Amino acid sequence: AKTWVLVKHFDGFPKNSDFELKVEELPEPKDGEVLLETVFLTVDPYMRPFSKIHMKEGDVMIGGQVAKVIQSKNPAFPVGSHVTANVGSHGWRTHTVCDASQLQPIPADWPQDLPLSLALGTVGMPGLTALYGIEEVLGLKKGETLLVNAASGAVGSVVGQIAKIKGCKVVGSAGSEAKVAFLKELGFDEVFNYKTVGSLEDALRKASPEGYDCFFENVGGYFSSVAIEQMKEFGRIAVCGSISVYNDSTPQTGPYPQFNMNMKQLKMEGFMQSRWEYKHQESLKRLMAWVREGKIKYRETVTKGFENMPAAFMGMLRGENIGKAVIAV
Ligand code: NDP
Repeated sequence: AKTWVLVKHFDGFPKNSDFELKVEELPEPKDGEVLLETVFLTVDPYMRPFSKIHMKEGDVMIGGQVAKVIQSKNPAFPVGSHVTANVGSHGWRTHTVCDASQLQPIPADWPQDLPLSLALGTVGMPGLTALYGIEEVLGLKKGETLLVNAASGAVGSVVGQIAKIKGCKVVGSAGSEAKVAFLKELGFDEVFNYKTVGSLEDALRKASPEGYDCFFENVGGYFSSVAIEQMKEFGRIAVCGSISVYNDSTPQTGPYPQFNMNMKQLKMEGFMQSRWEYKHQESLKRLMAWVREGKIKYRETVTKGFENMPAAFMGMLRGENIGKAVIAV
């Protein structure tokens, strides 16, 4: 198996020299185990902060994948079937021997015309994150106005579309004109490029002069502090991520939101999608149904070749992806 190993903990923005391609001998599968060949890998923002918390130098980079069973000693996972292995289990590797407890089969009724890589995006962990953030954390209601940043990405693009399904006004921000055009195609009501807009404050006010009921927060830092000022009274904020600070070597300080939180009586809640793991299967069915009905559209930025994993990861952190960033191994 080929693997990508983290040889040096990231210091600031990741570098090529932090990764090393290594070859590993795999054992024969034992009873209950399978040998997998990776078909699609994913690069996600969480890998940057999680590497510091959950990995040591020399570990294989963490991450989920879609794989094909090529040898099987487990009748529930026959040769030729496809599986997903999720966050943190297998990592960046071309082949894996594992017991089946870490695997979920791709459903037999997976539509022929949809790529299996969707199981890493819209009909996978990022889609679930969007759904839970909206339903469990924000409790978004018909007629409300929702703001989402990093809106053209894997999570943000699904957030905006679910909010449209629920009959809301959706405002999204993203970092290029191509991304803005994509969000308009998805039916977002107001969209702007936060990099060229000049005053972020003015752009947010223009997009929704009456303010925001809900804010799905993916970015953190400066964007967050400006957006919080424009919440309506009793507004709700779901803190999904803070990608703008993941590569900081020195933590950012202030400005602090407490004054607006207090005066506007806001509610802010951080969350991880894994909190609702017990309903993932049912939720994935709902996401798939929306995709089949054309209510949720998707886009992927596909990088070809296992050797390009670090480049795809760094490209995603730089904002080069539209929709989900995946790697076709
Ligand atoms: P994306 O597909 O959105 O890719 C990352 C995007 O973030 C880039 O394309 C870029 O878009 C944007 N970005 C990068 N750097 C910055 C910056 N400095 N300021 C503003 N935007 C930046 O990733 P995901 O959809 O997978 O993840 C989005 C967020 O959701 C992340 O914060 C992630 O950590 C979080 N997350 C949380 C989960 C949870 O359970 N809580 C689960 C999954 C994701 P642009 O060009 O628009 O800047």
